[in-house]
Amino acid sequence: MDVKQIAIIGAGIGGLAAALALQRRGFRVAVYERAKEIREIGAGVVITANARRALQDLGVDEALEACSSTIAVFHTCHFATGEVLRAVSSEDIRRKSGLASLGVYRADLHNLLMKSVLAQDPHCLHAHSEFVGLEQDGAGVTARFAGGGTARADVLVGADGNASAVRTFLFPDEQPKFNGQIAFRALIPEALVPASVRQRDSVMAAGPGRYLLCYPLRGGRIMNLVGLVQSDAWEEEGWAIPATNDEFARAFAGYEPDLLELIRNIPAGDVFKWGLRDREPLKQWTVGRVTMLGDAAHPMTPFLGQGACMAIEDALLLGRAFAISATPDEALRRYEEARRPRGTLVQLSSREEGLTLQDPSKKRRTAQDRGLLDYDPATVPV
Ligand SMILES: Cc1cc2nc3c(=O)[nH]c(=O)nc-3n(C[C@H](O)[C@H](O)[C@H](O)COP(=O)(O)OP(=O)(O)OC[C@H]3O[C@@H](n4cnc5c(N)ncnc54)[C@H](O)[C@@H]3O)c2cc1C
Repeated sequence: MDVKQIAIIGAGIGGLAAALALQRRGFRVAVYERAKEIREIGAGVVITANARRALQDLGVDEALEACSSTIAVFHTCHFATGEVLRAVSSEDIRRKSGLASLGVYRADLHNLLMKSVLAQDPHCLHAHSEFVGLEQDGAGVTARFAGGGTARADVLVGADGNASAVRTFLFPDEQPKFNGQIAFRALIPEALVPASVRQRDSVMAAGPGRYLLCYPLRGGRIMNLVGLVQSDAWEEEGWAIPATNDEFARAFAGYEPDLLELIRNIPAGDVFKWGLRDREPLKQWTVGRVTMLGDAAHPMTPFLGQGACMAIEDALLLGRAFAISATPDEALRRYEEARRPRGTLVQLSSREEGLTLQDPSKKRRTAQDRGLLDYDPATVPV
């Protein structure tokens, strides 16, 4: 295929995975990131078998497993008493899905992807490049950046996350809505984790209007903690709005004492909060030579823990579509046809799961229960 350069907007997990998937199939990419320095925040993410199969194809799964935590048992606990209501072992997940779920420090995954991308082409990452608009014609796309710079490419891929400027440029009438929930996040060193929480390895506790999840990272040396709580109050989007231990603990009043102790033990200054946004699925991801992936294409609530996994799946399918197509238009068509139904399904399922978690009479259905982990992005038709 006669494609000289593919531009990717956003050097998050999705953008870097896409860059690597395309590079490994012989395509030249240029990745534009608005941040002054290309890095990930220090927070956790669960990477499940479906995405791990894509990471195997990209050559980073083994190194990721070596620096992450295999979550031994996923415990669903009563929010107030801590009684274990359901336990799903890693072994069970491995038996059913082929690979265990990993508790991953986001920066570790991001660094592995970035190292591999730079090994393919040391000059392809461009920091301090905020995409603000584009023009396209039959032959390609010109991206515009804040400050007046431009870049020309045969194809442009928006991997610029939930508040995607590419998506807003393509579909200006479609805006995210605050979904009535605030998220808190924190990392806690192992020594500060109460023994009963450490013994359970991972705890998910849904109480009325609230949801708390913790799981280990980096071989158990760090515990990742996320709390979601219903709220009328608006909080800005973004992962780094400071919050206090008291504010976090107050939001989870009535939770079992050991989980509240975990919240109180978060090192000072290490609690962050933000408002969750939700968007409706799009009927179209591609306009001419421009498409999207990851949160830009299908932003989802975090209740199935699949957003980053979907971005990684998208990335591999994009690379595979380009590898077998005769023209960019064919590649983009193949990519969207393969990915949009899956992205929409997981986006809507995550929303549904969020409602289920608020209603104790409803039975929880995890990503595994829904069969999402069986998907193999390395072999599904594209
Ligand atoms: C509380 C919580 C828990 C989660 N847990 C999980 C989990 O366990 N498992 C899972 O799979 N997913 C999880 N997710 C979802 C996951 O974090 C996201 O889906 C994932 O980060 C999306 O990756 P992305 O690369 O598409 O976007 P992002 O990670 O948002 O990256 C976008 C990149 O684009 C850059 N950018 C933005 N605008 C511009 C611009 N105009 N120009 C240039 N660059 C730009 C940004 O700086 C950023 O680097 C969770 C999400 C939340 C909120």
